[in-house]
Amino acid sequence: MIRDIVRWPDPVLAQPCAPIEEVTKTVQTLAQDMLDTMYDAPGRGLAAPQIGISQRMFVMDVAWKDGPAEPVVCINPEITWRSETQVQSGEGCLSIPGLLVDVVRSAEVDLSWTDQNGVSHTSRFDGFASLCIQHETDHLDGIVTLDRVDAGTRDALIAEYEALSK
Ligand code: ZN
Repeated sequence: MIRDIVRWPDPVLAQPCAPIEEVTKTVQTLAQDMLDTMYDAPGRGLAAPQIGISQRMFVMDVAWKDGPAEPVVCINPEITWRSETQVQSGEGCLSIPGLLVDVVRSAEVDLSWTDQNGVSHTSRFDGFASLCIQHETDHLDGIVTLDRVDAGTRDALIAEYEALSK
């Protein structure tokens, strides 16, 4: 089921999310709804607070826009390592539509997570997947791209965003 996407500055986007205690049917349904909503948007990543649910889960599919879908559901994800090498890129966000924000992030990360079947995984990611993971994990900590730039840049971007929303 496609859910409504919450837009910044909704307070749910600034709130740290609670861990998910158990992968129940409700959690599995939520994961499927998040994938449906992400594909519909269309996007390549979506975190639970973006549909108003303050729980530690995100979904991503970095492949589907260029080939077959590869949906990944990350429950209680934890970044356990970040490379010292950093990259800067313009990041969009489904909750801040129309705005690209230049964010500096680690080029590679290690991620541990539980999937929708309750199976634990650990893997290293690079390229777009690494940036997407850091972006979505930020959402679970109540952080958006606008919180990753200096105050002057942030003010200019917010003015741009407000002009777009008029
Ligand atoms: Zn986002």
